[in-house]
Amino acid sequence: MSTEPPLSPRSLSPTPRSTLHRLRERGRTDAADLDAVLDAGLICHLGVVVDGAPLVLPTGYGRIGETLYLHGSSANRSLLAAAGHEVCATVTLLDGLVCARSIFNHSMNYRSAVIIGPARLVTGEPERLGALRAVTEQLAPGQWEYARQPTRKELAGTAVLALPLAEASVKVRSGPPHDEPADCESGAWAGVIPAALTFGPPQPDPALSPAIPVPGHIAALARRAYKVEG
Ligand SMILES: Cc1cc2nc3c(=O)[nH]c(=O)nc-3n(C[C@H](O)[C@H](O)[C@H](O)COP(=O)(O)OP(=O)(O)OC[C@H]3O[C@@H](n4cnc5c(N)ncnc54)[C@H](O)[C@@H]3O)c2cc1C
Repeated sequence: MSTEPPLSPRSLSPTPRSTLHRLRERGRTDAADLDAVLDAGLICHLGVVVDGAPLVLPTGYGRIGETLYLHGSSANRSLLAAAGHEVCATVTLLDGLVCARSIFNHSMNYRSAVIIGPARLVTGEPERLGALRAVTEQLAPGQWEYARQPTRKELAGTAVLALPLAEASVKVRSGPPHDEPADCESGAWAGVIPAALTFGPPQPDPALSPAIPVPGHIAALARRAYKVEG
């Protein structure tokens, strides 16, 4: 019987564009690491060329399997410019501020993903609905079933973009600062200030009847912890 660990079902296969050049040891090659970063994040930055100039805009997203979905108004310029073209999307999770003894060695702890590939405007209704569900559930799990479903008019006013996760990279920094040995004798404080995204107690819409309780999935959202610094 083989004692080899089982192969990961998916691994990131670096292309010339998705190969880390600097600090390669911070790269991850398991697709599960990519999925984990995407599933833990809330905001992606979409980089696209609009009218000949680069534009990078923050937006929400959702993941289904090996596809990242973005949505927006059907008049959204960057989504329309992206459709049918190569784009780049990034997701960044900040895990800590790294304060070193030297200015040069200050850094951040993070998990980040970069995805490069052809963006596709999604036109089929089942895929569009699945994508909108994924984007909604990424933002607030449970809301797709809880809130009113989109109307035909709302759907007509919404563009959905798909980006394959086939060409992607993941980079992770963790741990203390890397100071020069000579600086370690300086007597200056150095270390990491952990960072995590947290949410407060739900604040009801002022128009809400006081008789309507906070649903369980919303209460759970307020307790959601995004990162515990290791
Ligand atoms: C929160 C945060 C703060 C950072 N601050 C700095 C900073 O102040 N100065 C600095 O130089 N760098 C910083 N970085 C690292 C930065 O993202 C780049 O990795 C680094 O600058 C190397 O750039 P490069 O052009 O040489 O990349 P290369 O290694 O040449 O990039 C080649 C390919 O590697 C992949 N790649 C590169 N960087 C990343 C990444 N972060 N995540 C996933 N894939 C990646 C991409 O696919 C890219 O196309 C920071 C990263 C994060 C997440």
